[in-house]
Amino acid sequence: MGPQASDETPTLASRRTIVVTTGRPPRVPDAPLNEPPILASSFIAGGPMEYAREGTGSTAAIEEAIGVLEGGAATVFSSGMAAANAALDLVPMGGLVVAPSAAYTGVAVRLRELDAIGRIRLRIVEVDDTAAVAAACPGAAMLWLESPTNPLLEVADLPACISAARQHGAWIIVDNTFATPILQQPLQLGADLVLHSVTKALSGHSDLLLGALVARDAEFAEQVRERRVLLGAAPGGLDCYLALRGMRTLALRVEAAQANAIDIVERLRSHPRIASVRYPGFGTIAAIEPAADAAVADRICQGTRIWTFATSLGGVESLLERRRRWPRESPVVPERLIRLSFGIEDVEDLWNDLDQAITAAVDAD
Ligand code: PLP
Repeated sequence: MGPQASDETPTLASRRTIVVTTGRPPRVPDAPLNEPPILASSFIAGGPMEYAREGTGSTAAIEEAIGVLEGGAATVFSSGMAAANAALDLVPMGGLVVAPSAAYTGVAVRLRELDAIGRIRLRIVEVDDTAAVAAACPGAAMLWLESPTNPLLEVADLPACISAARQHGAWIIVDNTFATPILQQPLQLGADLVLHSVTKALSGHSDLLLGALVARDAEFAEQVRERRVLLGAAPGGLDCYLALRGMRTLALRVEAAQANAIDIVERLRSHPRIASVRYPGFGTIAAIEPAADAAVADRICQGTRIWTFATSLGGVESLLERRRRWPRESPVVPERLIRLSFGIEDVEDLWNDLDQAITAAVDAD
């Protein structure tokens, strides 16, 4: 069950259809509409599967859907971090990796760990400074991009960064978790690999962990698949089933949550108790800093009734958290910064709830 590359470049309209139609069993009488969860580690010998680390009908179905959406060949992993580690495993010994200063915490910590033991050499850049990214690329084995970044929402000039890295023969990986393939398709811009924490918007219901790597090139996809088999980072059948079920509404959810984000960000920009608002102009995530300190930011997170104070993002429910409450979060992230993950609830309910929590917390200070 090797990964299959797709050379289609779907439009937004066709992506809305693709999320519904791909990854289904063949249309034959009595076939189920959805690939059922396959709960098996071992299969009768003689076919292409044999053992679940290699892949199953459940992994194949969601891989087809993610692959067609991104325009490449997808391999799913047990989490986004498992996918990230598989990608880093492809870097040659001592290879130079250029990465953003504020990449997702887990990835940033892992990159520093690998650098500390000499497995890779790490060169940190500001991902929204295209000249700095280009200047860092000579000698690089891999350019690691995340755009927009978590949680600072910096946006990389993907075509320019990708072409700079390409000139120096580096592989380019883009963490597309925040944008989703509905809003951004890095493989079409020349990236070699796309990373997803499928845990987030792709599955969309905060009920599972899953990751994916999508390769533009079928040969590269085989190397990725080999990493999953050897690192043992295969997801279970039930998680694949639930994630694909969640993905069926990806376009609807992203469009609804993005509309909420755009509306509320506009109101936050003129909120007298908010000092700064970060929003890249698209997507479902924003970050705010109250005109007060981190303790007040914590009280805002605890003062909402519709928004939930919880980590993670990309689900149907709106979540908020102060990111620096995590000791490993990068010190470049302001202490009082609150990340907002917009869900699909009614926009007025979301606004009223957030507004009252901000006003009550700041005024009590
Ligand atoms: N990439 C980004 C941008 C993330 O936000 C996360 C998790 O928050 C990951 C990767 C890691 O994914 P997972 O939590 O599924 O391991």
